[in-house]
Amino acid sequence: GTSDRRTPRASQTHSIRYEMSAFTVATSAIGVTAKVTSKVAAKKTAAAPLSARAAVSGVSAKAFAARSHAKIASKAAAARVATVFAADEPDRSNADAPDAGKGQKIMILGGDGYCGWATALHLSNRGYEVAVVDNMCRRTFDDQLGFNSLTPIKGIHERVRVWEEVSGKRIQLYVGDICDYEFLSAAFQAFEPTACVHFGEQRSAPYSMMDRSRAVFTQTNNVMGTINVCYAIKEFAPECHLIKLGTMGEYGTPNIDIEEGYITIEHNGRTDTLPYPKQGNSFYHLSKCHDSANMLMCTKTWKMRTTDLNQGVVYGVATPETMMDDRLVNRLDYDAVFGTALNRFAIQAAVGHPMTVYGKGGQTRGFLNITDTCKCIQIACDNPAPPGEMKIYNQFTEQFSVNELAALITEAGQKLGLDPQVINVPNPRTEMEEHYYNAKHSKLQDLGLEPNLMKESILESLLTTVVKYKDNVDQRLILPGVNWTESASVGKTIAKV
Ligand code: NAD
Repeated sequence: GTSDRRTPRASQTHSIRYEMSAFTVATSAIGVTAKVTSKVAAKKTAAAPLSARAAVSGVSAKAFAARSHAKIASKAAAARVATVFAADEPDRSNADAPDAGKGQKIMILGGDGYCGWATALHLSNRGYEVAVVDNMCRRTFDDQLGFNSLTPIKGIHERVRVWEEVSGKRIQLYVGDICDYEFLSAAFQAFEPTACVHFGEQRSAPYSMMDRSRAVFTQTNNVMGTINVCYAIKEFAPECHLIKLGTMGEYGTPNIDIEEGYITIEHNGRTDTLPYPKQGNSFYHLSKCHDSANMLMCTKTWKMRTTDLNQGVVYGVATPETMMDDRLVNRLDYDAVFGTALNRFAIQAAVGHPMTVYGKGGQTRGFLNITDTCKCIQIACDNPAPPGEMKIYNQFTEQFSVNELAALITEAGQKLGLDPQVINVPNPRTEMEEHYYNAKHSKLQDLGLEPNLMKESILESLLTTVVKYKDNVDQRLILPGVNWTESASVGKTIAKV
């Protein structure tokens, strides 16, 4: 694979075959829009010209010029919005009630993924009406690269069926690509969301740095998908609150405190509050920076309601809902491309592989438990941004260095009779390994988040789950192989099969 240096043009990719290995894939499958199999694709409105569809939605150009709640298309939508916007006090005492989300219709883009699946079940269990939108590209990446989730995840159709069987609650399913606007607009018109939670992106930094085609795929998929979502809201659901997942990685590691989204700067005697500087250090992180800039412009121009959540690294696998039935189990990635720091260390400790600390291990990041991801999204749903304002929250609960994580896992692992070891491997990323890091993260807590901090019990429960499935681990996928400086125009091989 590594000797193949042909650079296919996009139009040629379908006819070019690379030598296959665990880490070299036919590029043809990347960047190709998945076939739309939506239940709503057949709806007449999907095929109608744009103007006709806008008319169906009741949205006219005038509605955007003079913005007001009264412009909402249907009375039903108006009623839902009224319920939603009544909740402006941070009183979370009712948050776990079975009807906590009554009246809210949440469309979860990327609802088959790690954060999306847990969030879909969390909200559904609390009376929010939920629709999952996903094109399963994450599962395709695994198939292409020879990866697997540690946990044996069921297909999305079975997941949704089992959830209904177990909980009596129905999650609607729209299978398709959000980069396909015909599909997305049909889904919006069919479901009429009051909020849209956008997890549906290619989310791995190493994947985006593997080669040119994946860099292009990552930015096309992420940036184009988000622009489509903004247009779908503008045209079909102008009151819909967009809750978009960004990442703490957008900020990079500046030598000053990281604020929550905006910073007030005094310059030459004048003062302004501006978006906090972004310096993503992978094509993936930069796709999120571009998304944020695009969203801010749309928010101001079209008076959209938007919340940008700069999420930290998520860890853990079990949530109360995924534990209700084995078939609801969430995905857990341990490979060097999709696995994230703490989850990977837990798995490495469980299978007797030394924990792979990259470089000096002083890299410090914000972390949060998957159960807190669900709660943060619920809080965002319950606190829609006012029209024309983009709220930005830093969504993490604690910060740790990589060395601190390894120490925590060592301690928790020893209690379970494991013998976790550490190796320092050359850092494949281009990043600072010792740096100042102090990121603010108070806004979600001000809105009522009670964090589930990284206690010993949490680590032990993660390790116990991991030990249960440890036979599924393919140790060849653990060592890092995607090197930032070696990224080239053709996929590189990181694991020999
Ligand atoms: P994931 O890959 O498990 O889930 C993303 C889902 O989106 C997948 O199911 C995928 O199939 C789907 N998807 C991608 N592109 C799509 C498209 N064009 N159309 C339809 N569906 C599409 O990722 P995750 O870990 O659940 O992350 C979710 C979001 O949270 C991402 O935007 C990610 O950047 C962000 N985030 C995640 C973490 C983390 O630690 N996992 C940290 C910070 C931010």
